[in-house]
Amino acid sequence: MKRYIAAANWKMNKDVQESIDFTNHLTKFVLNLKRTDVILCPPFTSLFNIGELLKKTTVYLGAQNMHFADSGAYTGEISADMLKSTFCEYVILGHSERRHVFNESDSMIHKKLLTALEKGLKPILCVGETLEERQSGRTVSVLKQQYTDAFAGLSEGEMGNCIIAYEPVWAIGTGVVASSEQASEAHKEIRSMIASQFNLRLANEIRILYGGSVRPDNAEELIATADIDGFLIGGASLSVEPFVLIIQSIENYLEKQEK
Ligand code: PEP
Repeated sequence: MKRYIAAANWKMNKDVQESIDFTNHLTKFVLNLKRTDVILCPPFTSLFNIGELLKKTTVYLGAQNMHFADSGAYTGEISADMLKSTFCEYVILGHSERRHVFNESDSMIHKKLLTALEKGLKPILCVGETLEERQSGRTVSVLKQQYTDAFAGLSEGEMGNCIIAYEPVWAIGTGVVASSEQASEAHKEIRSMIASQFNLRLANEIRILYGGSVRPDNAEELIATADIDGFLIGGASLSVEPFVLIIQSIENYLEKQEK
Protein backbone atom coordinates (compact mmCIF):
# COMPACT_ATOMS: atom_id res chain seq x y z
CA MET A 1 0.00 0.00 0.00
CA LYS A 2 1.21 3.51 -0.85
CA ARG A 3 2.74 5.41 2.07
CA TYR A 4 1.25 8.84 2.67
CA ILE A 5 3.18 11.95 3.72
CA ALA A 6 2.85 14.63 6.38
CA ALA A 7 5.46 17.31 5.62
CA ALA A 8 6.01 20.30 7.89
CA ASN A 9 7.09 23.55 6.25
CA TRP A 10 8.18 25.82 9.08
CA LYS A 11 9.08 28.68 6.70
CA MET A 12 11.08 31.42 8.52
CA ASN A 13 10.08 30.25 12.00
CA LYS A 14 11.95 28.63 14.93
CA ASP A 15 15.55 29.23 15.96
CA VAL A 16 17.86 26.30 16.64
CA GLN A 17 16.73 25.66 20.23
CA GLU A 18 13.03 25.93 19.33
CA SER A 19 13.59 23.47 16.47
CA ILE A 20 15.35 21.01 18.79
CA ASP A 21 12.61 21.27 21.43
CA PHE A 22 9.89 20.69 18.84
CA THR A 23 11.71 17.68 17.37
CA ASN A 24 12.36 16.05 20.74
CA HIS A 25 8.70 16.50 21.62
CA LEU A 26 7.37 15.32 18.25
CA THR A 27 9.46 12.18 18.00
CA LYS A 28 7.87 10.83 21.18
CA PHE A 29 4.50 10.80 19.39
CA VAL A 30 5.47 9.41 16.03
CA LEU A 31 7.38 6.29 16.99
CA ASN A 32 5.13 3.68 15.45
CA LEU A 33 3.64 5.14 12.31
CA LYS A 34 2.69 2.35 9.95
CA ARG A 35 1.56 4.20 6.89
CA THR A 36 2.74 7.83 7.04
CA ASP A 37 6.14 9.33 6.29
CA VAL A 38 6.75 12.45 8.37
CA ILE A 39 9.14 15.05 6.92
CA LEU A 40 10.33 18.11 8.85
CA CYS A 41 11.49 21.09 6.78
CA PRO A 42 13.04 23.58 9.21
CA PRO A 43 14.95 26.73 8.26
CA PHE A 44 18.52 26.17 6.99
CA THR A 45 20.02 27.18 10.35
CA SER A 46 18.33 24.26 12.14
CA LEU A 47 18.97 21.56 9.55
CA PHE A 48 22.16 20.09 10.98
CA ASN A 49 20.96 19.85 14.58
CA ILE A 50 17.62 18.40 13.56
CA GLY A 51 19.35 16.03 11.15
CA GLU A 52 21.46 14.68 14.04
CA LEU A 53 18.33 14.16 16.17
CA LEU A 54 16.33 12.52 13.38
CA LYS A 55 19.08 9.99 12.56
CA LYS A 56 17.80 7.80 15.40
CA THR A 57 14.17 8.08 14.28
CA THR A 58 11.97 7.31 11.29
CA VAL A 59 11.21 11.00 10.68
CA TYR A 60 12.82 12.49 7.56
CA LEU A 61 14.57 15.81 7.10
CA GLY A 62 13.81 18.23 4.26
CA ALA A 63 14.91 21.73 3.28
CA GLN A 64 12.68 24.57 2.08
CA ASN A 65 14.78 25.60 -0.92
CA MET A 66 18.21 25.26 -2.54
CA HIS A 67 20.27 26.71 -5.37
CA PHE A 68 20.80 24.85 -8.65
CA ALA A 69 24.57 25.40 -8.83
CA ASP A 70 27.09 23.13 -7.11
CA SER A 71 29.06 26.01 -5.55
CA GLY A 72 30.34 29.47 -6.37
CA ALA A 73 29.60 33.17 -6.08
CA TYR A 74 25.95 32.97 -4.98
CA THR A 75 25.89 34.97 -1.77
CA GLY A 76 23.19 33.80 0.60
CA GLU A 77 22.44 30.58 -1.26
CA ILE A 78 22.69 26.91 -0.22
CA SER A 79 23.67 24.00 -2.49
CA ALA A 80 22.33 20.45 -2.70
CA ASP A 81 25.60 19.04 -1.34
CA MET A 82 25.39 21.38 1.65
CA LEU A 83 21.87 20.10 2.34
CA LYS A 84 23.04 16.51 2.06
CA SER A 85 25.80 17.19 4.58
CA THR A 86 23.06 17.96 7.13
CA PHE A 87 21.40 14.53 6.44
CA CYS A 88 18.65 16.14 4.40
CA GLU A 89 16.77 13.77 2.07
CA TYR A 90 14.00 15.99 0.71
CA VAL A 91 13.79 19.55 -0.58
CA ILE A 92 10.75 21.72 -1.21
CA LEU A 93 11.07 23.45 -4.59
CA GLY A 94 8.87 26.06 -6.26
CA HIS A 95 6.89 26.95 -3.13
CA SER A 96 4.47 29.75 -3.97
CA GLU A 97 6.37 32.13 -1.68
CA ARG A 98 9.53 31.42 -3.70
CA ARG A 99 7.61 31.92 -6.94
CA HIS A 100 5.68 35.04 -5.94
CA VAL A 101 7.78 36.80 -3.29
CA PHE A 102 11.22 35.90 -4.66
CA ASN A 103 10.25 35.78 -8.35
CA GLU A 104 11.51 32.28 -9.01
CA SER A 105 10.71 31.33 -12.60
CA ASP A 106 9.59 27.95 -13.91
CA SER A 107 12.95 27.55 -15.64
CA MET A 108 14.88 28.24 -12.43
CA ILE A 109 12.70 25.73 -10.57
CA HIS A 110 13.37 23.18 -13.32
CA LYS A 111 17.14 23.66 -12.93
CA LYS A 112 16.83 23.22 -9.17
CA LEU A 113 14.80 20.05 -9.67
CA LEU A 114 17.42 18.57 -12.00
CA THR A 115 20.22 19.34 -9.53
CA ALA A 116 18.27 17.92 -6.60
CA LEU A 117 17.65 14.66 -8.48
CA GLU A 118 21.25 14.43 -9.68
CA LYS A 119 22.44 14.82 -6.09
CA GLY A 120 19.99 12.24 -4.71
CA LEU A 121 17.61 14.62 -2.95
CA LYS A 122 13.87 13.97 -3.33
CA PRO A 123 12.10 17.13 -4.53
CA ILE A 124 8.68 18.16 -3.22
CA LEU A 125 7.69 20.27 -6.19
CA CYS A 126 4.92 22.78 -5.48
CA VAL A 127 2.37 23.93 -8.04
CA GLY A 128 -0.72 26.04 -7.59
CA GLU A 129 -2.83 28.84 -9.01
CA THR A 130 -3.50 32.30 -7.60
CA LEU A 131 -7.04 33.44 -6.79
CA GLU A 132 -7.11 35.60 -9.88
CA GLU A 133 -6.02 32.66 -12.06
CA ARG A 134 -8.74 30.44 -10.54
CA GLN A 135 -11.42 33.10 -10.92
CA SER A 136 -10.53 33.61 -14.57
CA GLY A 137 -10.82 29.86 -15.24
CA ARG A 138 -7.08 29.32 -15.73
CA THR A 139 -6.38 26.83 -12.92
CA VAL A 140 -5.71 23.83 -15.16
CA SER A 141 -3.60 25.77 -17.67
CA VAL A 142 -1.47 27.26 -14.86
CA LEU A 143 -0.95 23.82 -13.30
CA LYS A 144 -0.09 22.37 -16.69
CA GLN A 145 2.48 25.08 -17.38
CA GLN A 146 4.11 24.69 -13.98
CA TYR A 147 4.07 20.90 -14.25
CA THR A 148 5.43 20.79 -17.81
CA ASP A 149 8.24 23.27 -17.17
CA ALA A 150 9.29 21.60 -13.93
CA PHE A 151 9.33 17.98 -15.14
CA ALA A 152 10.44 18.43 -18.76
CA GLY A 153 12.86 15.77 -19.97
CA LEU A 154 12.86 13.63 -16.82
CA SER A 155 13.34 9.88 -17.05
CA GLU A 156 10.75 7.60 -15.45
CA GLY A 157 13.25 6.76 -12.70
CA GLU A 158 13.84 10.44 -11.92
CA MET A 159 10.12 11.18 -11.88
CA GLY A 160 9.62 8.27 -9.48
CA ASN A 161 11.75 10.14 -6.93
CA CYS A 162 9.58 13.26 -7.05
CA ILE A 163 6.68 14.29 -4.85
CA ILE A 164 4.22 16.93 -6.02
CA ALA A 165 2.39 19.35 -3.72
CA TYR A 166 -0.74 21.06 -5.02
CA GLU A 167 -0.93 24.30 -3.08
CA PRO A 168 -3.49 26.82 -4.29
CA VAL A 169 -1.90 30.19 -3.50
CA TRP A 170 -5.20 31.55 -2.16
CA ALA A 171 -5.31 28.81 0.47
CA ILE A 172 -1.77 29.18 1.82
CA GLY A 173 -1.72 30.77 5.26
CA THR A 174 -5.17 32.28 4.71
CA GLY A 175 -7.39 29.91 6.67
CA VAL A 176 -9.34 29.34 3.44
CA VAL A 177 -9.02 25.69 2.57
CA ALA A 178 -9.76 24.19 -0.84
CA SER A 179 -12.93 22.13 -0.90
CA SER A 180 -12.60 18.40 -1.46
CA GLU A 181 -13.96 18.90 -4.97
CA GLN A 182 -11.46 21.65 -5.83
CA ALA A 183 -8.53 19.67 -4.43
CA SER A 184 -9.60 16.41 -6.00
CA GLU A 185 -10.09 18.02 -9.42
CA ALA A 186 -6.61 19.58 -9.34
CA HIS A 187 -4.97 16.36 -8.12
CA LYS A 188 -6.69 14.33 -10.85
CA GLU A 189 -5.45 16.78 -13.47
CA ILE A 190 -1.89 16.50 -12.15
CA ARG A 191 -2.12 12.70 -12.14
CA SER A 192 -3.30 12.70 -15.72
CA MET A 193 -0.35 14.93 -16.67
CA ILE A 194 1.99 12.32 -15.19
CA ALA A 195 0.12 9.56 -17.03
CA SER A 196 0.46 11.35 -20.37
CA GLN A 197 4.15 12.14 -19.90
CA PHE A 198 4.98 8.69 -18.49
CA ASN A 199 2.36 6.03 -17.77
CA LEU A 200 -0.60 5.23 -15.55
CA ARG A 201 1.40 3.04 -13.16
CA LEU A 202 3.80 5.88 -12.34
CA ALA A 203 0.94 8.38 -12.17
CA ASN A 204 -0.73 6.25 -9.51
CA GLU A 205 2.50 5.70 -7.58
CA ILE A 206 3.58 9.33 -7.25
CA ARG A 207 2.48 11.00 -4.06
CA ILE A 208 0.53 14.20 -4.62
CA LEU A 209 0.16 16.25 -1.45
CA TYR A 210 -2.37 18.95 -0.75
CA GLY A 211 -1.20 22.14 0.98
CA GLY A 212 -3.12 25.23 2.05
CA SER A 213 -4.60 25.84 5.52
CA VAL A 214 -4.65 22.17 6.51
CA ARG A 215 -5.72 21.97 10.16
CA PRO A 216 -6.74 19.14 12.51
CA ASP A 217 -10.41 20.00 11.90
CA ASN A 218 -10.27 19.70 8.10
CA ALA A 219 -7.56 17.00 7.74
CA GLU A 220 -9.98 14.09 8.09
CA GLU A 221 -12.18 15.22 5.21
CA LEU A 222 -9.26 16.19 2.99
CA ILE A 223 -7.34 12.96 3.45
CA ALA A 224 -10.40 10.97 2.42
CA THR A 225 -10.51 12.95 -0.83
CA ALA A 226 -9.66 11.07 -4.00
CA ASP A 227 -6.05 11.48 -5.15
CA ILE A 228 -4.74 13.24 -2.02
CA ASP A 229 -1.75 11.29 -0.70
CA GLY A 230 -0.83 13.49 2.24
CA PHE A 231 -0.25 17.09 3.19
CA LEU A 232 2.31 19.89 3.10
CA ILE A 233 1.55 21.84 6.25
CA GLY A 234 2.65 25.35 7.18
CA GLY A 235 0.96 27.06 10.15
CA ALA A 236 -0.42 23.90 11.76
CA SER A 237 3.04 22.29 11.79
CA LEU A 238 4.51 24.94 14.07
CA SER A 239 3.12 23.31 17.22
CA VAL A 240 3.42 19.62 18.00
CA GLU A 241 -0.21 19.05 18.98
CA PRO A 242 -2.01 20.08 15.76
CA PHE A 243 0.71 18.48 13.65
CA VAL A 244 0.35 15.16 15.49
CA LEU A 245 -3.46 15.34 15.19
CA ILE A 246 -3.12 15.75 11.42
CA ILE A 247 -0.69 12.80 11.24
CA GLN A 248 -3.17 10.72 13.26
CA SER A 249 -5.98 11.60 10.83
CA ILE A 250 -3.87 10.22 8.00
CA GLU A 251 -2.98 7.04 9.90
CA ASN A 252 -6.60 6.47 10.99
CA TYR A 253 -7.89 6.94 7.45
CA LEU A 254 -5.35 4.51 5.99
CA GLU A 255 -5.97 1.97 8.72
CA LYS A 256 -9.69 2.01 7.88
CA GLN A 257 -8.87 1.60 4.18
CA GLU A 258 -6.83 -1.52 4.89
CA LYS A 259 -9.70 -3.22 6.71
C1 PEP B 1 2.69 26.09 3.05
O1 PEP B 1 3.36 27.06 3.35
O2 PEP B 1 3.17 25.25 2.29
C2 PEP B 1 1.35 25.96 3.61
C3 PEP B 1 0.57 25.05 3.12
O3 PEP B 1 1.01 26.83 4.62
P1 PEP B 1 -0.34 26.78 5.52
O4 PEP B 1 -0.55 25.36 5.94
O5 PEP B 1 -0.06 27.69 6.67
O6 PEP B 1 -1.45 27.27 4.65
